[in-house]
Amino acid sequence: MITAEIISVGTELLMGQILDTNAQYISQRLTEAGINLYFRATVGDNHDRLFHAIQTAASRADIVILTGGLGPTEDDLTKETAADVLGLDPDFVPDEESLERMLARFAQNRRIMTENNRKQVMFPKGAIILPNENGTAPGCILEKDGKAIILLPGPPREMRPMFDASVMPYLRKRGEGIFCSRVLRVYGLGESAVEDKLRPLIDTQTNPTIATYALTGETTIRVTARCQNKEEGSRLLEPTIQAIEELLGHVIYSSDGMPLEQVCANLLLQSKKTIAVAESCTGGLLASTLISVPGSSAFLMEGCVTYSNAAKMRRLGVQADTLATYGAVSKETALEMARGMRKSAGVDFALATTGIAGPDGGTAQKPIGLVYVGLAYAGGETVHEMHFVGDRNRIRELAVLEGLDMLRRHIQEIE
Ligand code: ATP
Ligand code: MG
Repeated sequence: MITAEIISVGTELLMGQILDTNAQYISQRLTEAGINLYFRATVGDNHDRLFHAIQTAASRADIVILTGGLGPTEDDLTKETAADVLGLDPDFVPDEESLERMLARFAQNRRIMTENNRKQVMFPKGAIILPNENGTAPGCILEKDGKAIILLPGPPREMRPMFDASVMPYLRKRGEGIFCSRVLRVYGLGESAVEDKLRPLIDTQTNPTIATYALTGETTIRVTARCQNKEEGSRLLEPTIQAIEELLGHVIYSSDGMPLEQVCANLLLQSKKTIAVAESCTGGLLASTLISVPGSSAFLMEGCVTYSNAAKMRRLGVQADTLATYGAVSKETALEMARGMRKSAGVDFALATTGIAGPDGGTAQKPIGLVYVGLAYAGGETVHEMHFVGDRNRIRELAVLEGLDMLRRHIQEIE
């Protein structure tokens, strides 16, 4: 089994100025290529520390993948250091094709090429060159004694296409088999409860394997099979996915990684139903989440952010009495909001949110995190009282998820 390690190079990464999205991207790709990844490291732009990191990685793994430090400046020293570690000839030679490409690029942009740019197209003899379609610095693969060091540019918009076009085919050739995985998404059951229910499956897992992790307000379950091809992968995954579905039931809202808003959109489209939303504490996030799905104009008719009591009365017809008696954050108000929205928009469904997102405004009776989500439909209505924990925006996101899940369950006739 082939193993790889990733080293992200850049002092900015260590200082927390940028997030290491390259390592995440490469990790995902390695999984797909069926290559084991046991270590990841981040190193600053310093020759000695980088040398040590590469040497350590190369002593453990077959393939070391580095990103960053391929540029033209003094602090870009990844290539030189990697060559040092492998004991390659320090007299680099120009790659003519890359040089021509770089000259053409500068000419096209009407920019003058400074001499230090030439450094980017100089490589150790025998290096496999990885063309850069989106920038000046090509990547390369250095091989020696069965080990490979793969050098990639730092900017993600250059690194990612290069990885897909040149590195993936290289890895596939070296890897044994591939990994296929599917993601099941769960709303309404926390990660530990999910794990608990899946315990009998998890304890006996070999191929495929089951891993759970938590996202905001939801739990995802990744099922991964080691296989020779996609068909074999599906064959291996299917029985495990079915077993998980049987154990968890309706809290699973998708078995193919699809987000909740897309699931709701599909349900609305299939049933040819329309929706409108009336939002207080979520402040447009519910509408925005639905609108993030392409084609949402077919089902989302309108949304109102009715933040003040006056707006709730004027736009949605909430009764002054209701607000005075129960308050803006109440079951009664949420339902009147949903009812009013549904009527005035002439839609099949209306969702409404009202709650206390904090950090101020909480009381003993109505603490921060108290949210009511109402759903009105032909011939009925429901309201859920939620007690969310988190900061203002997390509470807003959780309220949106709750609303969408209420809609999903209603259309799917669950409970
Ligand atoms: P350049 O030719 O632009 O100098 P480079 O290959 O030398 O590229 P770096 O100088 O290390 O790469 O990084 C350039 C930029 O790429 C960084 O400022 C940052 O925006 C982005 N970048 C670098 N490494 C990463 C990473 N691991 N994850 C996300 N972005 C990164
Ligand atoms: Mg640089």
